[in-house]
Amino acid sequence: MTTRNPVERLAEVRHEFGEHGGVNMSVEASTTFTVMKPGTMPELFAGRKAAPEGCYLYGRHFNPTVYQLGRQLAAIEATEAAYCAASGMAAISATILQLCNSGDHVVASNTVYGGTYALLHDFLPSKANINTTFVDATDLAAVEASITDKTRVIYAESIANPTLRVADIPRLSDLAHANDVQLVIDNTFSPLLLSPGSLGADVVVHSMTKFINGASDIIAGVVCGSTEFVQGLMDLHQGPLMMLGPTMDPTIAAKISLRIPHLALRVAEHARRAETFAGRLHELGVPVSYPGLPTHPDYDLMQKLRCEEYGFGGILTLDLGSERRANDLMDALQNKYGFGFMAVSLGYFDTLMSCPGSSTSSEMTDEDLSSAGISEGLVRMSVGYTGTVEQRWQQLESALTNIGAIRESHNEFT
Ligand code: PLP
Repeated sequence: MTTRNPVERLAEVRHEFGEHGGVNMSVEASTTFTVMKPGTMPELFAGRKAAPEGCYLYGRHFNPTVYQLGRQLAAIEATEAAYCAASGMAAISATILQLCNSGDHVVASNTVYGGTYALLHDFLPSKANINTTFVDATDLAAVEASITDKTRVIYAESIANPTLRVADIPRLSDLAHANDVQLVIDNTFSPLLLSPGSLGADVVVHSMTKFINGASDIIAGVVCGSTEFVQGLMDLHQGPLMMLGPTMDPTIAAKISLRIPHLALRVAEHARRAETFAGRLHELGVPVSYPGLPTHPDYDLMQKLRCEEYGFGGILTLDLGSERRANDLMDALQNKYGFGFMAVSLGYFDTLMSCPGSSTSSEMTDEDLSSAGISEGLVRMSVGYTGTVEQRWQQLESALTNIGAIRESHNEFT
């Protein structure tokens, strides 16, 4: 399967010039927008006209700067439209609420970000009577068996946080559509390298807090889908973004749009380094998981689905066997060798490390952690691109030796 390079699609989005011809687009700060004729206002409120053809109306509804960033994300994700939100969780919760009513059902992958798990497992059942069955999304028979006449959504992450299992998006899409269900994919871990929209997903969501923004200084999200779906998010009576109001500030949209042009360079470099480290760790016998290693269970699938230029992603995991050893490694890497930071999140230019079992996946029950294969010694590493590859590799190898995980004389994992 060959998918078109998303960067080519992005380059086809018309560039917005600033008000005075600046090469950056202007930041539209207005919270309200004029109509030129009094008759337009009632048409907007009756839903007969929509932005941008009608009028942007009001900042919680649409804002031109936020709208332009959405157009870029729609191009990257090969969807008709997209709109940005204040966070990845805002994008995810708005999507589920748009697709499901009280009494409806979701089939979700059993390995999703802890916040998404809590939304589906705890929040939505009690607040909205929307219930979820969690299944191994790589087991298509199990996914199919979980679909009921109430199911409206199949939900998965393209590369799962933190197990790095890869969703077979084309087959999940076939399954979803055969059952009149929508496929929603969270593509936070794999912008550019996977394009779920062109592989059959109906809705693609991102936490733009991660790779897309890339500087760990902004919380943001986006929902990408059909024009009808995206417009529906702003419906004056039923649109979850309009009703709940997790609006993106236009200055944030302008900042992120300045980082989109180098997303491809960043994603490729994160991936190049993660692949190098994963290969070397594997050679040392360290239990490492990375979708670009031929030993990864989804390596062949990844080869089939990905856009080659952007590698296999910037995240790898190591299983140190126990939480104590995982903590020893992260402590040494941060405090002795300066390799990276012990911090949640990912997609930053420096390396970020965390133990998902006791942090970003700690919302999960012990049973669900164990069935998803998230062990207590698992370290998730978002590989950064500061320093040189050899300098960083030396730090990583020294830290593993320092905590006794590899023996200096044998250079092998113990
Ligand atoms: N989706 C994934 C895969 C994530 O890892 C995260 C956060 O870590 C989110 C969504 C939530 O994003 P945000 O923190 O921007 O709300």
